[in-house]
Amino acid sequence: MRRVLVTGANKGIGLAICRGILEEHDDTAVFLGSRDAARGEAARQALIESDSAFGERVTVLPLDVADQASVRNAVAEVTASCEGEPHPLYGLVNNAGIGLRDSDLAGVVEVNMHGVRRVCEAFLPLLDPERGRIVNVTSASGPNFVAKCSPERQRFFLDRDLDGPTLSAFIDECLAQPDAASFRKRGLGEVNPYGFSKACANLYTLILARENPRLRVNACTPGHIATDMTWPHPAASGRSAEEMGMKTPAEGARCPLHLLFGELEGNGHYYGSDAQRSPLDRYRSPGSAPYTGP
Ligand code: NAP
Repeated sequence: MRRVLVTGANKGIGLAICRGILEEHDDTAVFLGSRDAARGEAARQALIESDSAFGERVTVLPLDVADQASVRNAVAEVTASCEGEPHPLYGLVNNAGIGLRDSDLAGVVEVNMHGVRRVCEAFLPLLDPERGRIVNVTSASGPNFVAKCSPERQRFFLDRDLDGPTLSAFIDECLAQPDAASFRKRGLGEVNPYGFSKACANLYTLILARENPRLRVNACTPGHIATDMTWPHPAASGRSAEEMGMKTPAEGARCPLHLLFGELEGNGHYYGSDAQRSPLDRYRSPGSAPYTGP
């Protein structure tokens, strides 16, 4: 039985990824990560209601990606439940995210960037070293953010040779800026916590892939999906999600599922919601020609 851990899986796209795994891969079990155990259990029950056989393949894993102790406990729980297996995980999906409209730069970075790094570093030893896969659910807000940066800063966000400490130092420096003007002085177009955090998580994905060449490590946007993160916006406009051009969580799960199980070329790439490669410094519309650069 293969096992996949999905973070932030008690609702939205994360829950849809779990459902897709259970429905389409009966040789795969899921650790359903949830920072709140009760919300995780409710999600598990919802999956079991649609197919009682799923019960055996879903384990709720309490996991707050912003809390080092919680991540450590989650590693211990996975290790204990798969006793005797040195590498019990086939896949890790870093899906937990916050802050589309949040102005708290440090708080958003803590979950969307440091949370991804924290979970990757903690669970890497548990991943199958030969065929393991990591999928970072980032966002088109990352490339959109980079597109507004200075040319020099854009080169930074595209640098495949960058190392982790340099990225961390850069993030610390950005978090220490007292105002928007000094943030902009660093070649960062605007203070957009969500876009900044996702651009950094995309860059982290490149670093992680380079450092772990035998794994398949990639990032993607799920697309424009109607979830609790996005829904208040169209609801306020009085139009339906469909009228707003938004897709369902199940559609948002398609690219993450492809990056988990599909045939992949290369490593350390960023994909659009249509499961085609996309650039890191500008938006590519789903259905348009795939990106073929480095
Ligand atoms: P959502 O419905 O709000 O779900 C977010 C999930 O992340 C929830 O399960 C939430 O748990 C969890 N979470 C938040 N902070 C966490 C933490 N510290 N530790 C663990 N889990 C945490 O949003 P979604 O749209 O499904 O978003 C999923 C991912 O897709 C995010 O990374 C988001 O940035 C990305 N994304 C979404 C869209 C879109 O259009 N929806 C577009 C691009 C990218 P709680 O229930 O406990 O809050």
